[in-house]
Amino acid sequence: KEAGRGQYRFFDQSLNLNKDVEEFHLEQAFAAALKNREFVLHYQPQVCLNTMRVTGYETLVRWQHPEFGLVYPDRFIPVAEKTGFVIPMGLEVIRLACAQLVQWRLDQVPVKTLAVNVSPIQLGRSEFCEQVRALVDEHCLEPGQLELEITETAILNDQAMANLHCLKEAGIRLSLDDFGTGYSGLAHLEAVPVDKLKIDRSLIASICNSHDDSPVVSSTIILAKRMKLQVVAEGVETPEQLVHLKVAGCDVAQGYHLGRPMPAGDVPEFIRNFHRL
Ligand code: C2E
Ligand code: CA
Ligand code: CA
Ligand code: CA
Repeated sequence: KEAGRGQYRFFDQSLNLNKDVEEFHLEQAFAAALKNREFVLHYQPQVCLNTMRVTGYETLVRWQHPEFGLVYPDRFIPVAEKTGFVIPMGLEVIRLACAQLVQWRLDQVPVKTLAVNVSPIQLGRSEFCEQVRALVDEHCLEPGQLELEITETAILNDQAMANLHCLKEAGIRLSLDDFGTGYSGLAHLEAVPVDKLKIDRSLIASICNSHDDSPVVSSTIILAKRMKLQVVAEGVETPEQLVHLKVAGCDVAQGYHLGRPMPAGDVPEFIRNFHRL
């Protein structure tokens, strides 16, 4: 009936209510989930292609729902953005990431940096930068240990740009996510203070489909490096893609071929095994 209706399917099955009532219930469910600490983070390794060592992790939120089990972000982030709930939830995600960095430091697990996904809705809030800085301070972290992944759509307004400059000034690292899915090229991004560019997995998937493959990926890497941006490839699923990316000068790779997202408890052993290879 309506575009975006699919977003509610998960809840339609359980609640089967009209949209207003449904959204009302969702807000209640979100609030309870936050209070009961049902949002958990999984961690996906990012690997330096020069050294083949794990350089950091991307955090990916999941909803550990008491009835429905592990719910993936594609099921609830769109609704959370629509209702505004993504604002408190997103802050909780950053808090969880900071707390995990502190825990790993105590346990001597060699993870120094975490990348956290940030919704355009969060970035559009005037208080966002100060809230993030406060969390970094409270956890006694170096600002450079935290990296925020933003998308192109997020940078199209003034408040978002002000936040980006504020975060950058504070020393927090910024990464442009899903590059290649939007409509603007690299030139357009010169005004945006990011440190890193993440090439979307749809572009990575095109590698090795033909023989003179992926001129878009290669030229993106060249241009990004000329702009002094670190380049990360996401969605690396095959050894062939990994080799191609390394030859093309890509700095960091992430994807199922290197490691799937995992709960925090699996990280220490994963790193040990990975570095033993
Ligand atoms: P994303 O930022 O592009 O995250 C990468 C997604 O690709 C993750 O899905 C990850 O599990 C998946 N992935 C990683 N490697 C591979 C691979 O080799 N092949 C394939 N096919 N997929 C791979 P996930 O965890 O379901 O997250 C989906 C999206 O939800 C994320 O896309 C991100 O946009 C959003 N998201 C996740 N966590 C958060 C969060 O804390 N806050 C916000 N606002 N959004 C989040
Ligand atoms: Ca991301
Ligand atoms: Ca991405
Ligand atoms: Ca993506």
